[in-house]
Amino acid sequence: MSITSNRERILKQIEDATLSAQRTANSVTMLAVSKAQKINHIEEAFNAGQKLFGESYLSEALPKKEALARLGIEWHFIGPIQSNKTKDIAANFSWVQSVDREKIARRLAEQRPDNLPPLNICAQINLFDEATKQGTSTNQVDDLLSFIASQPKLSLRGVMAIPPPQSNHQKQLDQFQKIAAVYQQLQNQFPTLDTLSMGMSADMEAAIRAGSTMVRVGTALFGKRPDNWKELIKG
Ligand SMILES: *Cc1c(COP(=O)(O)O)cnc(C)c1O
Repeated sequence: MSITSNRERILKQIEDATLSAQRTANSVTMLAVSKAQKINHIEEAFNAGQKLFGESYLSEALPKKEALARLGIEWHFIGPIQSNKTKDIAANFSWVQSVDREKIARRLAEQRPDNLPPLNICAQINLFDEATKQGTSTNQVDDLLSFIASQPKLSLRGVMAIPPPQSNHQKQLDQFQKIAAVYQQLQNQFPTLDTLSMGMSADMEAAIRAGSTMVRVGTALFGKRPDNWKELIKG
């Protein structure tokens, strides 16, 4: 299967899920997750019409971004963030979806270059208290969003979540509905919120049914990442 035909198939799945959930057509965007994927594959997806791409590791993302600079891709950072990486993230991405603490938000605000528009931010939330996962907990999310909203160099756009994988559609749906309920509550308080980023290759239909506005799709678009991809991109 080619990336182009994969993309067509996924867009159709997204549209079918959107309409069967009685939601407005075209209300769900696809972010192509290109971590561990080759530059020519990213270019193929771009030529097929894909404009939004997500990367999780800065050391991998920067050379790819440079190699593809002429295309005009909108890059989203979606990986864990260490403090010493914020300067390059602030200078090289349009969106950061994985902001999980005020310290990181503050650094991104201070380091966003003046000649660039405000950095679009999603707060990553973790409602399922997985110790190993990134994300701010429910009782801290208000403070984090208030801080982001107060920063002129940041634009508060949404909430991102990666719930634990579930093989069963109903369990996927239960988790996504919990996240969507938190998001809807936050929207009352923070009217600039327009993005609920949840759902990946294996669970995007349930995510859309629950209200996702952005699904982050890697494997279904590009094929399986190599088994040793984490080692390949380290450094
Ligand atoms: C890798 C990754 C994805 C994509 O996962 P697939 O299962 O390949 O679709 C989505 N979101 C985040 C944050 C990721 O790290």
